[in-house]
Amino acid sequence: MNVPFADLSRGVAAARPELDEAIGAVLDGGRFILGDHVARFERAFADWCGAHDAVGVASGTDAIALALRAVGVGSGDEVIVPANTCVPTVAGVEAAGAVPVLADVDPATWTLDPASAARVVTARTRAVVAVHLYGLCADVDGLRELGLKVVEDAAQAHGAELRGRRAGTLGDAAAFSFYPTKNLGAFGDGGAVVTNDPDTAALVRSLRVYGESARYESVRRGWNSRLDELQAAILLVRLGHLDASLARRRELVRRYEAIPLPRQPVPEGFGHAYHLYVVRSADREALRRRLADAGVETLVHYPRAVHQHPAYAALGHAGLGESERLAAEVVSLPLYAELTDAEADAVAAAFA
Ligand SMILES: *Cc1c(COP(=O)(O)O)cnc(C)c1O
Repeated sequence: MNVPFADLSRGVAAARPELDEAIGAVLDGGRFILGDHVARFERAFADWCGAHDAVGVASGTDAIALALRAVGVGSGDEVIVPANTCVPTVAGVEAAGAVPVLADVDPATWTLDPASAARVVTARTRAVVAVHLYGLCADVDGLRELGLKVVEDAAQAHGAELRGRRAGTLGDAAAFSFYPTKNLGAFGDGGAVVTNDPDTAALVRSLRVYGESARYESVRRGWNSRLDELQAAILLVRLGHLDASLARRRELVRRYEAIPLPRQPVPEGFGHAYHLYVVRSADREALRRRLADAGVETLVHYPRAVHQHPAYAALGHAGLGESERLAAEVVSLPLYAELTDAEADAVAAAFA
C-alpha cells in the first residue's frame, strides 16, 4: 500500500461544497482585504483558542515578527530561540530587527530547555520564543521564570494544551501559521497573532497596515502584512472541522503506539496537537529506505539544527548537542485526519 506523507486534496474534497459557497460569497461581496470575513475569522479563532484577540497577518513568519515587535522587542535586542526549530522562527526574529540567540532543547521533551535558555541570557535579552515543536507545548511556565517576554511559536500547535490552557494563551503573544499543511491550513499563506493583551493586539493591528492609527495616518513604522478575505473565508470553514480533525489525529496516533522506536514524550499536563508524529532512529537513512520500500513516505523535520544551515552558522556555539542529535535522528511519519485506518496500520506494520 502506498501511504503519501500528506494529501491535501482529501480534506478539500470532503468540505468542497462548503468551501465553494464560502469562496463564492467573497467573490460576490467584492471586498478582498480586511473585510468582514477576516473580522469574523479573527473572533472565531480567538474564541477557539480561549484568547482575548486574534489578528490575521500574511504568514506565520510575519506573525512571529509582529508579535515580537508588539511586545516591545526592537532593534538590537536579543531573543532566545531553540536550535531545534525550522528557519522561519529565526527569520521572524530577524525581521523584528532583533538578534536570535540559540539555546538547546530538553532531551525529555525535544522543546526549548529553560536551563539552557538561562545560560545564554545577557543584559540585552528581551524575549524568548517558545516553539511548540510538532504540536507539543514548550515548557512556558519554566521559560516565564527567566523574566523575559514570551512569544509562542504556535505554528504547529493549533489545539495544543498546557495544564488545561490552549496554545495562544500561554505567553505574552503567540504566532500561528495557516500554511496549507498545518493543523489549520488555508489555500495559500496566512497567519495570526493571538494574545490576551488588548494593547498588544491593537499594536499588531496597526503594524500590519503601515503603522496606521487611522486611514493614511501612520503613527509608527509598520509594513504590509494582512490575511486576505479569501483565506479568511476558507479558514472559517476549516475551523468548523478542526476539533474533529484533531480528534482523528489523536485516534490515529494510537495505531502508532506499538512502533518500537523512541517518540516525542508527552509530559503529564500537556496535550499534544499532533501536527507531526516523529520518531527517532540512530540509523535514519536505513529506516527511511525500509519504509519507502513498504510504500510509506516519510520526511525529516528538520535535517539541520538552525546553526547547521550555512546562513546561520555564526549562531552556533557549544551546548547545542541535543538539537544536533535530534537533527541527525528524527523521522516524521504520515499523520493527517484523512489518513485511513488501513493506511495507519500499514505504516505501523512497516516497522515489524
Ligand atoms: C510553519 C512554521 C513557521 C512559519 O510559518 P509560515 O506561515 O510558513 O511563515 C514558523 N515556525 C514553525 C515552527 C513552523 O512550523
